[in-house]
Amino acid sequence: MFSELVIPRRTIMTPGPVEAHPNVLRVMSSTILGQFDPAFLTIMDAVKEMIKIPFGTKNEQAFAIDGTSRSGLEAALIALIEPGDKVLIPVYGRFAYLLGEICERAKADVKYLEKEWTEPFDQEVIIKAIDDFQPKIVTMVHGETANGQMQALDKIGAACRERDIFFVVDMVATYGGVPIYVDEWKVDMAIGGTQKCVSVPSGMSLITYNDRVEKVLTSRYQKELGLSKVDRNDNPISSNYLDLSQLQRYWNSERINHHTEATTMIYALHEGLRAMINEGIENVWARHQLNDDAIVAGIQAMGLGFFGNMATKMPTVTPILIPEGADDGEAIRSMLLEVFGVEIASSFGDLKGKVWRIGNMGYSSRRENVLHVLGALEAALIYYGAEITKGEATKAALQVYEV
Ligand SMILES: *Cc1c(COP(=O)(O)O)cnc(C)c1O
Repeated sequence: MFSELVIPRRTIMTPGPVEAHPNVLRVMSSTILGQFDPAFLTIMDAVKEMIKIPFGTKNEQAFAIDGTSRSGLEAALIALIEPGDKVLIPVYGRFAYLLGEICERAKADVKYLEKEWTEPFDQEVIIKAIDDFQPKIVTMVHGETANGQMQALDKIGAACRERDIFFVVDMVATYGGVPIYVDEWKVDMAIGGTQKCVSVPSGMSLITYNDRVEKVLTSRYQKELGLSKVDRNDNPISSNYLDLSQLQRYWNSERINHHTEATTMIYALHEGLRAMINEGIENVWARHQLNDDAIVAGIQAMGLGFFGNMATKMPTVTPILIPEGADDGEAIRSMLLEVFGVEIASSFGDLKGKVWRIGNMGYSSRRENVLHVLGALEAALIYYGAEITKGEATKAALQVYEV
């Protein structure tokens, strides 16, 4: 006999996954619909339209891909890449290397433009690298979750468009949390996540692209052999599961039979997006900014330091330098989780053991969560004897909220 699952209650203040919106959890216990049930197709059509709003786009194409955020990144890049294609990847944090990993496996000729992780690029530096390398594709990350820095994109996008280069951007950790203007910034393909600012479980990726990309997809379209012996292509996309040319035709009126859609997850996505849109996307962005201001004020009041340039910090992630006397930070993180029921994150690579990250995303981005994590972190630091300014953190946050 196995015992029934009892899931502990948590306050999640990490950069994903975050707490699901209560309406999301509610619809996930609804009955299953088949993926071609007209009742379900209506839900899909609404989801397509809602996905566009946080992206700031009027693109025809916007839909969800089954698989975590990296499935969207991979689908996007392999749709464009043919072996030997030149891809430029500016790197100011961890996830740029994920883009590189995908491009290299697709046999692209990848060039990394690297810098230290403390701040993003001056856009002119990237434009110069574009002129030097003359790539077919520039791909980069909007918000680097590991170090909490965010890149301005407008000039890079404009430069790519002028030179007829594709611009593909990972917006996984910024989608729904900060202002995004895909059309204005001339981003050809953008990828968003669900378990970050959309308050939906992990397991899906969101994508939008323009007709420049759609033209490529049309030219590479190949339908599965079991469905058609005539829709063959000399140069198909190398993945069947992550083939945007087929996925688009499932999400659009043609409704070709590709995968079995995870219909329950689409219900969840519908409610996650609807909650954001009903709140008003500008209000959602403002809420994230206010909660970020309170987190920063609280951490500062404790006398702790931050990693990286605060002027280019993502409002959805705050990287904190782990103070002396807190060993490598893991004992405090465990205490927060096991005693206070609140989760914060460590970091990766060179930042592991040096930086904690407090996430501020989606349904987790709430005043009570901010006050809880600040109070708990201060108490745990005091308990472990770290030298901090006592009794000021929560007060500083309350002052930001003007309560
Ligand atoms: C979380 C994250 C990813 C990867 O997401 P998965 O859902 O784990 O595949 C990619 N890029 C960025 C910027 C992220 O924050």
